[in-house]
Amino acid sequence: MTDSTYEHHEYDVLIIGAGGAGLRAAIEAGQRGLKVGIVTKSLLGKAHTVMAEGGIAAAMGNVHPEDNWMVHFRDTMRGGKYLNNYRMAELHAKESPERVWELEQWGALFDRTKDGKILQRDFGGHRYARLAHVGDRTGLELIRTLQQKVVSMGTDVFMECKVLQLVHDAEGRIAGCVGYWRATGEFVTFQAKTVILATGGIGRSWKFTSNSWESTGDGHAMALWAGAKLIDMECVQFHPTGMVWPHSVRGLLVTEGVRGDGGVLRNSLGERFMFNYVAPMFRAETADSEEEADKWYDDHSAEEEADKWYDDHSAGRRPPELLPRDEVARAINTEVKAGRGSAHGGVFLDIASRRSAEFIRRRLPSMYHQFMELAGVDITREPMEIGPTCHYMMGGVQVDADSEATIVPGLFAAGEVGGGMHGANRLGGNSLSDLVVFGRRAGIGAAEYIEAGDAATSFDQGEVDGAIKEALAPFERTDGENPYDVQHDLQELMQDNVGIIRTATELELAIQKLDEFTDRVKNVSVKGSRAYNPGWNLATDLPSMITVSKCVAMGAIRRKESRGGHTRADFPNADPELGKLNFAQRSEGGHWDSPVSVHEASILIMPAELKALLEEDQ
Ligand code: FAD
Repeated sequence: MTDSTYEHHEYDVLIIGAGGAGLRAAIEAGQRGLKVGIVTKSLLGKAHTVMAEGGIAAAMGNVHPEDNWMVHFRDTMRGGKYLNNYRMAELHAKESPERVWELEQWGALFDRTKDGKILQRDFGGHRYARLAHVGDRTGLELIRTLQQKVVSMGTDVFMECKVLQLVHDAEGRIAGCVGYWRATGEFVTFQAKTVILATGGIGRSWKFTSNSWESTGDGHAMALWAGAKLIDMECVQFHPTGMVWPHSVRGLLVTEGVRGDGGVLRNSLGERFMFNYVAPMFRAETADSEEEADKWYDDHSAEEEADKWYDDHSAGRRPPELLPRDEVARAINTEVKAGRGSAHGGVFLDIASRRSAEFIRRRLPSMYHQFMELAGVDITREPMEIGPTCHYMMGGVQVDADSEATIVPGLFAAGEVGGGMHGANRLGGNSLSDLVVFGRRAGIGAAEYIEAGDAATSFDQGEVDGAIKEALAPFERTDGENPYDVQHDLQELMQDNVGIIRTATELELAIQKLDEFTDRVKNVSVKGSRAYNPGWNLATDLPSMITVSKCVAMGAIRRKESRGGHTRADFPNADPELGKLNFAQRSEGGHWDSPVSVHEASILIMPAELKALLEEDQ
């Protein structure tokens, strides 16, 4: 017990995050008889996962019977440019079908094939149509299903409660965390035998992002400060299709489902430019003419009337619009830089000239409303103006593939905050399946850790007091900087210098500036009370945002090659030697302003039988 005067709760398993990963972990730990609490800084049902659109990838073979875990494994490793933790990719490919069927048993209503199976759609980098989906609102259905299960189990959920820092015991094991209620500003402590981080991504450090306001990298940063390692932090995914106009919604995602369902990319000259950007690795299975690509779309049309889609199971050579995201995003960037972009700095995504209005409204209802309401564009009649947007963090907390345990006893991580699964680039749909596969495994890992009887026995009150003192410091300063100014400048810095294409000069500048930002954060001041104070909330986000931004820039300068989501203009090719390495980062001091060190770590050596599955690509 703590002698704290703050509100205090005790659990076997405390889960930080109520997205797909956190909820799935909670179900697993709860089913094993453990006392589980979930903390989320937004409302239950509103975690970023709810925004997921296109689908969840699982080799169920419902549309293409020849699909199986081995092809999914190969696609995932190839998409990740072989930087992935192979064991995570293997577990993910093997277990995701089971997790999707489980969701169905728990009440998820997926779209159906004619014969009543779960329908699967095409997405970039997947050899076969593999994404189970609910129109373009798959994340909503996933959250609804998991949330219903969690609520029915009576799990405690602490909503609008922000965790500031993890807390150790006297032996350095994780013993819980400290946070505050966003509405009142009152502090709260959670003592727990294990903590599972499921805090999602980091995209809010960039100016244009598809990520929700929650994605400030808190879990990545808290794990680093607590002694865990982060890996592959340079690997940030810029999704090729975000809205570019109007400016107020720039970055908002346009699902890859638009391209999966027939949408094509054109530049301002009307050229279907993706044919010019097919890398040798993908040439054999990518169509090389508009005629061949159009035939593929016709054969794979999800229009109900196109019966042959269900009958013709040959995968065919895919249109170049369905190359992995890193390839498509770079191609768009190149077209815009070459002066062939749209008026607002993007290119055109056209589904209107290729599919009926009825089809578009049925298959892509959210996209239809998003463009109609936000941009006044009717996508059943006009093309969309799109461009790359900061979307997904491949890098994250290094975990043991089977249990999701970090190197800090008692600390686990799952979902987007975890690193390794996706290597240098994630395939679309592979995140939702990652959440349920590794969320479940984290729940099991935490239960087994507790069963082993080595959980924390004390709760470091000094760490609690230190975190609270720092959180309150902005109120003490009367003439410091406004946190919104710091956030604005940070987002500009990251967008301009640690974006989709990087150079040593820009990265060095970013690293130097990020040190200056550390000092600026120490000098922010906020006014008013702790209740309903968004300025103060932001001030408490800034240490995480600065920490993860530094880690990305420091990883990016070390990786002197282009691989997946990480592109260096000064090192445009992949370097086979660097392909054998992850860059791992640690905090040298455990405080948010402590220096971060970067170490080389060899990637795991793959067993021969798995390597054989990849051989045809190497
Ligand atoms: P999240 O869903 O991000 O949840 C994080 C949780 O942690 C939240 O509850 C948050 O409040 C909480 N949290 C964070 N910090 C704190 C803190 N300090 N204290 C307390 N709580 C905290 N992937 C696919 O596979 N298929 C798709 O179709 C797809 N579509 C997407 C569409 C969009 C627009 C976007 C942006 C992403 C999409 N993705 C998709 C990616 C996928 O949605 C995310 O990677 C995934 O949902 C992350 O889930 P998570 O459980 O790891 O975290």
